Amino acid sequence: MLENKNIIITGAGSGIGRATSILAAGYGANVVCVDLNPCVEETVQEIKAGNGNAVAQIADVSREDDVQHYIQICIDTFGSLHGIYANAGVSGGGKPMLDLTVEDWHRTLSVNTLGVFLAVKHSVPHFTQAGAGAIVCTASVAGLRANAGGVDYSASKAGVISIAQTVAYQLHGTGIRINAICPGLIETGMTKPVFDSARQRGTENRIGQINPTKRFGQPHEIAEMACFLLSERASYVNGQAIPVDGGLSASHPWAFPRN
Ligand code: NAP
Repeated sequence: MLENKNIIITGAGSGIGRATSILAAGYGANVVCVDLNPCVEETVQEIKAGNGNAVAQIADVSREDDVQHYIQICIDTFGSLHGIYANAGVSGGGKPMLDLTVEDWHRTLSVNTLGVFLAVKHSVPHFTQAGAGAIVCTASVAGLRANAGGVDYSASKAGVISIAQTVAYQLHGTGIRINAICPGLIETGMTKPVFDSARQRGTENRIGQINPTKRFGQPHEIAEMACFLLSERASYVNGQAIPVDGGLSASHPWAFPRN
């Protein structure tokens, strides 16, 4: 599906980014795995162990010079850029609104929203030159509706959805597509506190029960959507915010009937 495509994936050290890096390499992509956390090296080792092709790059996605650098690494290492998955993010800690500081707000939006904007801004000139390119961003169901994160996190993800919609139109006729994925609850490093505390309380079997699929998701289930959107199989999908959430966002509030 991604044979010989040169792709950058951010947040590749853990969770959704790691799963997507491994899957994309399995589908034939050459991957630049970007993360602030050195555990991104382990992702690359795993890809190489499976005979895939990848390089690791430590970078802060909210720093413009780091973004320019990780894009240049892709060009220098693989010769061109075909797609980028701007996925790195932070939860913001889910603080109540009145406890949020200006610093909290800036940090969450710097990584989650500015990081996506910078990835778009600095990859687009390469795609324009090539007359093609695929941009995928990770938003969240929190960007669609309330109750899936703090106000800083939710606003940051609504911003990502808006970037996908707005940029799709600004790039009309260029051959470049951009889409956002809105994951529901996925078991990753970010959601570990939720899972740990449920396990401690013995309520693990209640996690994910409010969606009609009746379970939480795994990173590879988001990775499949990301690889599809990065590939030419998604050639007519553009400017969309696509929930991958077991159906959570499909409904108005609703109580499951008791068995
Ligand atoms: P994760 O396991 O914590 O992975 C995120 C990765 O991004 C981590 O390796 C993290 O490093 C890295 N990162 C954080 N700040 C960074 C920065 N400034 N520059 C570069 N890398 C940075 O979480 P995940 O669940 O896979 O999250 C991936 C994306 O999915 C995020 O955008 C998240 O908001 C979104 N999402 C997740 C869920 C879910 O239920 N898991 C639901 C909806 C949306 P550290 O570990 O050192 O922080």
